[in-house]
Amino acid sequence: MRTIQHWIDGAATAGVSHRTAPVFDPATGAPQAEVLLAEEADVRTAVAAAARAFEDWQDASLSRRTGILFAFRQLMYDHLDELAGIVSDEHGKVLADARGEVQRGLEVVEFACGIPQLLKGDYSDQVSGGVDSFTFRQPLGVVAGITPFNFPVMVPSWMHPVAIACGNTFVLKPSERDPSASLLIARLWAEAGLPDGVFNVVHGDKVAVDALLDAPQVAAVSFVGSTPIARYIHGRASAAGKRVQALGGAKNHAVVLEDADLEFAANHLTAAAFGSAGQRCMAISVAIAVGAAGDRLVEVLRGKAAQVRVGPGRDDSSEMGPVVTREARDRVIGYIESGEAQGATLVVDGRKLTVPGHEDGFFVGPTVLDHVTADMDAYRDEIFGPVVVVVRVDTLDEAIALINANPYGNGTAIFTASGEAARRFQRAVTVGMVGINVPIPVPMAYHSFGGWKDSLFGESHIHGPDGVRFYTRAKVVTARWPHVEHPVVASLQFPTAT
Ligand code: NAD
Repeated sequence: MRTIQHWIDGAATAGVSHRTAPVFDPATGAPQAEVLLAEEADVRTAVAAAARAFEDWQDASLSRRTGILFAFRQLMYDHLDELAGIVSDEHGKVLADARGEVQRGLEVVEFACGIPQLLKGDYSDQVSGGVDSFTFRQPLGVVAGITPFNFPVMVPSWMHPVAIACGNTFVLKPSERDPSASLLIARLWAEAGLPDGVFNVVHGDKVAVDALLDAPQVAAVSFVGSTPIARYIHGRASAAGKRVQALGGAKNHAVVLEDADLEFAANHLTAAAFGSAGQRCMAISVAIAVGAAGDRLVEVLRGKAAQVRVGPGRDDSSEMGPVVTREARDRVIGYIESGEAQGATLVVDGRKLTVPGHEDGFFVGPTVLDHVTADMDAYRDEIFGPVVVVVRVDTLDEAIALINANPYGNGTAIFTASGEAARRFQRAVTVGMVGINVPIPVPMAYHSFGGWKDSLFGESHIHGPDGVRFYTRAKVVTARWPHVEHPVVASLQFPTAT
């Protein structure tokens, strides 16, 4: 069985790790590799390598950094299919979806290629007689990224290209469930000319994460994952004095108004609910049908959900793959059962689905639960599977109140033909990312990504302008070059501009 190693100081290594975790093929249910789980000593080695590399990398010229970033961008592009294949094999998502994920990660690399422009400072001439003032931003040092299983290329790419472009060195702790893509990314960075130690990967579980959170040399932590772990990471890293951004889970609502094009809305809801088997932090998991939209919407959804072609990710005819693990499948099935038991109407039932030749794969079919209410577990919890729940309300204001009462605030969408309703919605919802007739409003790399409420702990959104600010700190210089013929008189008075 293949053993997936760490990547520290420019080379693959087993370090002192002796514990492992299985990596499954979700389409067959069989283990396909084992990944090393780092011990504290492995993390210390990686952090020390990153700290050494920072000594030089912080001084790398902007031209040198952009040269490496452009080369890395080209290599990622050249290896797009290989990366997508690795993602599909370990995560289970279909190849076309995996390619889309790599493409969205590449866009952050392209954003980071513009780092000379992004790091330009400000200069104020003559703030006082013979005195100038200017601001510039400097890297933090060693920064860490801890990432979830659902986007093993894209989510780390929200972090490392920007952090490295800003002059930091990076230690990535990817998900232990689909760890291989990070190693190819490490090799591509090396091939692009990135010095050893600037980008490191340690695989592992809580032991590795805690060692990163406690390491004195780690200046900042970026986390993406579930809400309970995000809250924990934010608390522990903040207590250790680190800068931290911790993005959590989601329960994304799409409101469908009576005036919406229902065929259009149902098509987009189906794609947004069942794409990647619902394992996207921006997946639509709640459809709020307003007034008369309800019955018609559910009828169209019933037909669309039943038509989704479910199969192995590598099969070109599949539109939706399995979920990531057996535990994930059991959890999803548990929510379908509890929804039905708590009074919801099961419109499309994905529990019975079998994929011929893949009977042991972790498959659950698209599922639609109607007449769901806010007190049901299927509404309250993040299911993170191919289940969409339909809640019926009478007015847009009720829909907005429901969304705002939900503890999550990652993404939301509205389907309508009314500009007035859309504008009211976009202003009133307490959610970080809003789509108008766009079900998955993931911002492009040159905007920042982030939710509100329990979907993000910390002040900074991720990538885009917020990413540059997060991975740097500002310094302001006040400078005077006295002229011998115009001596400056020193005064005990607090300095004011003259
Ligand atoms: P997870 O929280 O289980 O794991 C995320 C990371 O934390 C992994 O690297 C994991 O090894 C580590 N981890 C897990 N348990 C830990 C513990 N007890 N102590 C320390 N570290 C721990 O999340 P997941 O299941 O991999 O990913 C799915 C979740 O991520 C969903 O909740 C989804 O909504 C969320 N997500 C959010 C966003 C966003 O942008 N807000 C994006 C992608 C995924």
